[in-house]
Amino acid sequence: MSKPTIDHRGPEFEALTHRLLADLRWICGTTDDVFIYPASGSGAWEAAIVNTLSSGDTVVAFEQGFFAQSWAQVAVRFGLDVRLQSWDGRQGVTPDAVTKLLSDDGNQAIKAVMIVHNETSTGVTTNIKAIAAAMQASGHPALLFIDAVSSLAVTDLRHDEWGLDVTVSGSQKGLTLPPGLAVMAAGPRAIAAHESATIPRSYWDWDDQRAANAKGSFPYTPATNLLYGLEEAFAMLREEGMDNVFARHRRFGSAVRAAVATWGFDTVSTVASEASQAATAVIMPDGHDADALRALILERFDMSLGTGLGEWKGRVFRIGHLGDLNALALMGTLAGVEMGLGLAGIPHTAGGVAAAMAVLAEEAS
Ligand SMILES: *Cc1c(COP(=O)(O)O)cnc(C)c1O
Repeated sequence: MSKPTIDHRGPEFEALTHRLLADLRWICGTTDDVFIYPASGSGAWEAAIVNTLSSGDTVVAFEQGFFAQSWAQVAVRFGLDVRLQSWDGRQGVTPDAVTKLLSDDGNQAIKAVMIVHNETSTGVTTNIKAIAAAMQASGHPALLFIDAVSSLAVTDLRHDEWGLDVTVSGSQKGLTLPPGLAVMAAGPRAIAAHESATIPRSYWDWDDQRAANAKGSFPYTPATNLLYGLEEAFAMLREEGMDNVFARHRRFGSAVRAAVATWGFDTVSTVASEASQAATAVIMPDGHDADALRALILERFDMSLGTGLGEWKGRVFRIGHLGDLNALALMGTLAGVEMGLGLAGIPHTAGGVAAAMAVLAEEAS
């Protein structure tokens, strides 16, 4: 990424663009349109909305957690009629809940269902394949928008095979890069919706992207050096093999949960099969402030844990275990947490680190 920045309208760049778009299709599991913006993941949230919807359209979101609710707020700001469904964020959205909503929507007012694949604030993963299948079985034409910001290249996700309409992600989670790129895939139904969508759009307009991309460029200055990094990230993922990448994240998730269980804490996620392979949200014992523990661990060990977001502020800390991470780095993280728990005088059972080591040693053999 520290290579010199090249002319983004020159021939060398043209080849890079085509390689990147092909790789992005590969990682999303799609032959449809893909887009790359200089933006954070939230930019792709907005791009999904402004490219496919019109003011006053009805969309559905669930109270999965901080990110799902934040995306719903973006929809509110664009004048959409957002039906935010109350939901126990400790569980993934169920296909039955989606089916019920759509079958109750006799006049087919709902234009899109917005779901977060891996809700990073709670560490709960929703079964997107099952939700997509339920939507297709319902015969309802609503589009399915998936936030895959912390699931792309972490947990299996197949845009075409599962029949997703819009999949959005960003550079700084499973793609292992610094922040600054938003990426997305859009299926044919989303592209068709784009033709009649009337929310004003400029920066995010798919037409501008497609026209420029076809010629190997972008409508405006791209984040060239992050794109160099993206190409290398794709090469690293391909070299490891996606099955191995997913297995590594599953192994790390299991190891972290073994540590947390040994310490005697609950995770926000309550359904074992939905436990996120990207991040684990750990609930503190009553009377102990998660952010005080985080501050202590930062000061003593120079390690940043994730803060509790939304309703979990102060009650949970989050351990990230996604992206460019290996077993020993994860063990360092867990050791930092266990030492911090001891220093903070938080009641726990020692041995979480050993439990995680046992998981990693066994699964590696
Ligand atoms: C990180 C994250 C986002 C937000 O992405 P930004 O890059 O901060 O805009 C959105 N959704 C999920 C699930 C995330 O984990």
